[in-house]
Amino acid sequence: MELKALKLTPKRLEICKKLNLNSGEEILRYYPFRYENYQETAFETWKPGDNVVFQGEVATFPNKYRARRSLTITSFLMFYGDEELKVTIYNRPWMGLQVGQQLSVIGKYDGNHKVTAINCAGKPLSEFAGIHPVYPLKEGITQNDIRKLIQAVFVKEETADRLPEKYRTLHGLVSYREALNGIHFPQNTTQLRQALARLKYEEFLNFYLALKLREKDLSGQRAAKMFSASEVERFIKQLPFELTTDQKTTCDEILGDMQKNVIMSRLVQGDVGSGKTVVAVVALYANHLAGYQGALMAPTEILAKQHYDSLKELFRNSDIRIACLTSSEENQKEIKQALKNNEIDILVGTHSLFSDDVLYAKLGLVIADEQHRFGVEQRRKLKEKGKDCDLLLMSATPIPRTLAASLYGDLKVSTIESMPPGRKGCITTLVKKNSLKSVENELKEILTEGRQIYIIASMIEKNDTFKARDAESLYQALVKVFYPYRTGLLHGRMSAEDKEAVMSAFAKNKIQVLVSTTVVEVGVNVKNATAMVVYDADRFGLSQLHQLRGRIQRSSYQGRFYLLTDTKEESTLKRLKVLVDTNDGFKVAVEDLKDRGPGDLLGTRQAGLPSFVLGNLITDTKMIEAAKKDAEELLHSPDPEERSYVQEIAYLSQQFAVE
Ligand code: ADP
Ligand code: MG
Repeated sequence: MELKALKLTPKRLEICKKLNLNSGEEILRYYPFRYENYQETAFETWKPGDNVVFQGEVATFPNKYRARRSLTITSFLMFYGDEELKVTIYNRPWMGLQVGQQLSVIGKYDGNHKVTAINCAGKPLSEFAGIHPVYPLKEGITQNDIRKLIQAVFVKEETADRLPEKYRTLHGLVSYREALNGIHFPQNTTQLRQALARLKYEEFLNFYLALKLREKDLSGQRAAKMFSASEVERFIKQLPFELTTDQKTTCDEILGDMQKNVIMSRLVQGDVGSGKTVVAVVALYANHLAGYQGALMAPTEILAKQHYDSLKELFRNSDIRIACLTSSEENQKEIKQALKNNEIDILVGTHSLFSDDVLYAKLGLVIADEQHRFGVEQRRKLKEKGKDCDLLLMSATPIPRTLAASLYGDLKVSTIESMPPGRKGCITTLVKKNSLKSVENELKEILTEGRQIYIIASMIEKNDTFKARDAESLYQALVKVFYPYRTGLLHGRMSAEDKEAVMSAFAKNKIQVLVSTTVVEVGVNVKNATAMVVYDADRFGLSQLHQLRGRIQRSSYQGRFYLLTDTKEESTLKRLKVLVDTNDGFKVAVEDLKDRGPGDLLGTRQAGLPSFVLGNLITDTKMIEAAKKDAEELLHSPDPEERSYVQEIAYLSQQFAVE
């Protein structure tokens, strides 16, 4: 149903807008990323950090206190059996309580007879106990808001089952409506398991259908590109370093593709720091020799600017004209004109390279660096503009080759596994406290040796929903800690000019310590920065942390990576330990895929992979195999119901192209 037809309250509409949910169907497909199981237990068995639910008697009037404009804290005492507990709840200033009243509470036990409640009410305990879905949140939205929204929509939305009957029966899957009910309002774990099975199967089936449909219309032809191989060889010889074996092989594969009369569609994947840029440069050179323009697209302006600098350096002995399309209007006007006149050979920039008004005279090669970072819309534009162009995708999220092949279908994959010579790698330390105090001296030593440091925070400014260190306040504190060394601040909400100024000051070592959000995650290349401290490391995905770690292993200096966390959760600590134990991106990726539960905590969809919301590529192999087989069969099915299903997926997949 359309949002309008659902007649949601203005507040709920606002939530939909913030979460980018545009229809009833999308709202119902906003899945929890995990579940919490609350069962009543005896006080004696409670341990700090436990989720608890209990019913007791209110012992004192609530004490209300406004900490900040958007934060009120209410606390009161309760009797639970003969224990006296202090209960604290945030942002419930209107809550009226009577002494002596029975109250059910759900929350976290903090130890010392203290409980932080997430909800409490004078309802029977059974309404709180049980399995609770936990949804990904945005600022100003609560779990309760989302649950209520989904409840309201679930009642109104027609949830017809589109999955062909045959496959539902074959795999014993529950209906779509049952599945939605089970995933949002599970009564028990069986119901939840059945819901997950049904929805995951559908995700995989649709993915493989879309993939196979795409394979059909991808085998486009163009004239073979003509260039002199020895000329390319000469170019490679004069580069400032010798290519590694894997880089050479990858270049050969790309050049081979370009010399065929079929449009190239290749993914180069290699761990962070393995040297993908130079491979792109070789491809751009050959493409230029063949008489075509090339475009190199980066996910951020910082990275585009950096590529521009690297390209100028690597092409310094040639007469190739390189330009960088930035957000400055003046620059844009000039470049668009030159591009049309074929006065630019290689254009570097963000997705703006494919805006409607950027016209190329003779575009022959499109390279998307860190391709997984681009959104659906950006990929669509890229596909349109580069219709008859060779396409080279580069990704730093290494996924096992067999998996890549099964995911990307006929997209060819080159892998760079060996690192450039002389790298010392990285020593990773897990600090079980969200403070750099215990490693402060080590960090100061690193500065004394003349190296630089990144400090990473998971958010820009203070936020009441999450307890985590923010970049702004960390910056203020660390300026003093590291004085007389200079500290700078970088985050995504700064203007492009400010960002560039800070980044360039850091690159020139005018700033020694850079406090930043994950805007530095991708591709940033400052060789002299050899240490990184990550606050609230538990809030990041493993692959994301590995990406970050890649920033500090770009030279022959020893890299040092510090993960700070206050978490006491064994599973989280075990997950982080993977990074301490291995520096191999492939192993990290596999571990990461293994424990990616439904959805993803911070909404940072994991890199390089199609967005399976529920499905898990490593553990759901059986289902993947079944879905693949069914997809193949469906494509050739004469059954009208099944054909219309295929057509619907074909239509959807054109709108949301999978890479
Ligand atoms: P990524 O694969 O993460 O994009 P880059 O292309 O940025 O890696 O390369 C990382 C660093 O390694 C760069 O400073 C680059 O100049 C250097 N590099 C790349 N290839 C080689 C090589 N064969 N020998 C020495 N240094 C190299
Ligand atoms: Mg790179």
